[in-house]
Amino acid sequence: MNDVDIAVVGGGIIGCLVAREITDRDPHCRVALLDRDVVAGGASRRSAGLHFPRGGTERVRRMSAHSQAVYAQLAQDDPTLPIHALTMHMLTADADRVERTYLPSAEPERVGQVPGDLIAVPQGTGVWTGRGCQYADVGALTEALARRLRRRLALREAIRVTAVDAGPSGVSLGLSTGGVLNASRAVIAPGPWIADPAWEPLVKPLGARVKKIVALHVDQEPGEDDGVTVFEDEDAFLLPLRHRGHWLYSYTCQEWDVDPDGLAQGLSAKDLTEAVESLRRYAPSLAGRTTAGRVFCDAYSPTREPLVRTLDDGGRIVFAGAANGSGYRLAPAIAAETADLLHIPSSRRNAA
Ligand SMILES: Cc1cc2nc3c(=O)[nH]c(=O)nc-3n(C[C@H](O)[C@H](O)[C@H](O)COP(=O)(O)OP(=O)(O)OC[C@H]3O[C@@H](n4cnc5c(N)ncnc54)[C@H](O)[C@@H]3O)c2cc1C
Repeated sequence: MNDVDIAVVGGGIIGCLVAREITDRDPHCRVALLDRDVVAGGASRRSAGLHFPRGGTERVRRMSAHSQAVYAQLAQDDPTLPIHALTMHMLTADADRVERTYLPSAEPERVGQVPGDLIAVPQGTGVWTGRGCQYADVGALTEALARRLRRRLALREAIRVTAVDAGPSGVSLGLSTGGVLNASRAVIAPGPWIADPAWEPLVKPLGARVKKIVALHVDQEPGEDDGVTVFEDEDAFLLPLRHRGHWLYSYTCQEWDVDPDGLAQGLSAKDLTEAVESLRRYAPSLAGRTTAGRVFCDAYSPTREPLVRTLDDGGRIVFAGAANGSGYRLAPAIAAETADLLHIPSSRRNAA
């Protein structure tokens, strides 16, 4: 008999929500959640944590709607969770874009200006507002989820998975301790560590790549009512991180094929210059208040839709991730698709 029914590898927001979804659906399922670090030590800890109700494809819009409902339920069930509702404004020169990509439930509405005096709207650019936006302290939320999961499963931190081998009766996972964990099935939720030698040959055919993500910290305290502004045409946003007492400006850095273990050198002169120039176009008064930020990376799929796929012929190993810089906002839907792929019926849902 295997040690556990399902091993989930990776204790970020995606791995934790996958483990939660499995144990919600089947409380008798024996699950182990393993991380080479403490939980939430990867991309999730660095995340800006913005959820906006949009998607570039029908599947991502569905995932966005599902995830929004799950986070709303979590926040309602436990108001102490670090999930914060936000007002939202969107800027774009493409008048149809908001209609095309935002969920109808966002009820997008064209308005004249962004409230306050921070945003300078470029000529020819329209401003919209909408509903359903929130942001989270993703690291703290992941830890809170992991704390609850401890009662339901075996949480193994500082245990690195060094090998993954599928056989006729299950999956054997080699561990950094020298031991082996035998599971009937395994979920790999590695965040940007897609090239870990333990699963690199299995994951490579998916065609995912790792891109650097850079966000600036702006030394100005947001007000209680300040909301997020999304610059649709640049894939950038200005977010009031109230829990940290500063604004965050996220812009699209185009540095590809980076190594998550090699990003500790911090913000480079090039990162800072590019990001400040981008911010200056929309919020010139803040551009001089940015001398710091956060740098990490995420896995991106060829289609820009998250990947939830089996990796072996027997369907025992499932990959969940490559969420294209949207792994927080789509994690609940990724978790649901993963549980579906593992054939765990949602009718057995029995939330603790
Ligand atoms: C600066 C920044 C800003 C972002 N902003 C947003 C945003 O506003 N909204 C949004 O939706 N998304 C955002 N993202 C993206 C989002 O944070 C990620 O998509 C998400 O956190 C990925 O979650 P994950 O669980 O897949 O990965 P991770 O949190 O990286 O978790 C993967 C885990 O796997 C573990 N692991 C790796 N290898 C092994 C191994 N061999 N054995 C055991 N464990 C292993 C790691 O230790 C890690 O804890 C941002 C990302 C960054 C970096």
